[in-house]
Amino acid sequence: MFFGCCILKSGKEREEVEEKLKRITGKLIREHSLEEEEYRYLIDHREEVRDRLAREARRVTEQIYGDEIFVRGLIEFTNICRNDCLYCGIRNSNENVERYRLTEKQILDCCAEGYELGYRTFVLQGGEDGYFSDEVLVPLIRKIRREYPECAITLSIGERERASYQALFDAGADRYLLRHETADEGHYRKLHPERMSFRHRMNCLRELREIGYAVGAGFMVGSPFQTSRELAEDLKFIETFRPEMCGIGPFIPHRDTPFRDEPAGTLELTCFLLSVIRLAWPSVLLPATTALGTIDPRGREKGVLSGANVVMPNLSPTEVRRNYELYNDKICMGDESAQCRSCLDMRMRTVGRRVVTDRGDLRRTPREEVNEEESRKKNGTE
Ligand code: SF4
Repeated sequence: MFFGCCILKSGKEREEVEEKLKRITGKLIREHSLEEEEYRYLIDHREEVRDRLAREARRVTEQIYGDEIFVRGLIEFTNICRNDCLYCGIRNSNENVERYRLTEKQILDCCAEGYELGYRTFVLQGGEDGYFSDEVLVPLIRKIRREYPECAITLSIGERERASYQALFDAGADRYLLRHETADEGHYRKLHPERMSFRHRMNCLRELREIGYAVGAGFMVGSPFQTSRELAEDLKFIETFRPEMCGIGPFIPHRDTPFRDEPAGTLELTCFLLSVIRLAWPSVLLPATTALGTIDPRGREKGVLSGANVVMPNLSPTEVRRNYELYNDKICMGDESAQCRSCLDMRMRTVGRRVVTDRGDLRRTPREEVNEEESRKKNGTE
């Protein structure tokens, strides 16, 4: 009798869970918006909806981007950084890193090689290195802009003042990647030293957008102290801020950081979140990150099957690549740029996708165009 009641009770509970999951996934697919608690519920019960959401995410990606995969040529031009983020392998206090800065010529050579290989976006990424003032960067960006007028120039060089962002934009940069890392201020405090400010970082993202950059945000999956509550906040932030690009990858510990013994994030949760992000903000440019390829040999392909549509192969000179190790065992350290490119072409073909020679700008759906216009009118920006 007692046993039977238990079965009845758990059966009822099961039905309630299924019902709730059906309602939430339906809402996400139809309305592209959920409450934070609903995102959290999805994350906590993801086993039951993972496959369905991945299928939907693929369908939405194909509707907007077809079978196209956009590539960004990544140039890691300095590993010197004034910051000390607790998770980062090139943090300032890590004395085991051999520091480097590429010269202007080396950076321009990387662009030239990338252009030959079919890249139409260059991502200049580095630590917050005081050497690269506006006086140094503005002429460099102008040169790249003049040489490659049809290419996108993306910067990923951390927090700067608004006037600096403006000067770099005026010189010809048109996109800026600045992962928000976590949308929860308390969580941010646990991942960064005291002197770094959550509000300043979020404000940078807003300023970049106001200036006119296409903006990339993003976060780590499975970072220390993160629960489904913080992840739900991240998802809500992405849904409402709508960055043109959203980079998420599993947290992977680095041996020379305070988080060296923390467990890595998982492929499974990262792929699930890629699907949810695709459905929450359908047009978003969503990379299958190198970190995903590091925790699983087919991580990037699995990312694409979950809704990703961008890959970012490395264009940095091979001799410096091993010094830009943000986390343990980063892949593609020794490969020549041409090797990286053909390896990715082949990998993408195995999942029915095609790497294209294109700037890879965001393509809004007609419904998103209407929503954008309405929100511009509401905010009085027209
Ligand atoms: S995450 Fe970025 S800002 Fe932080 S220490 Fe590393 S390179 Fe510097």
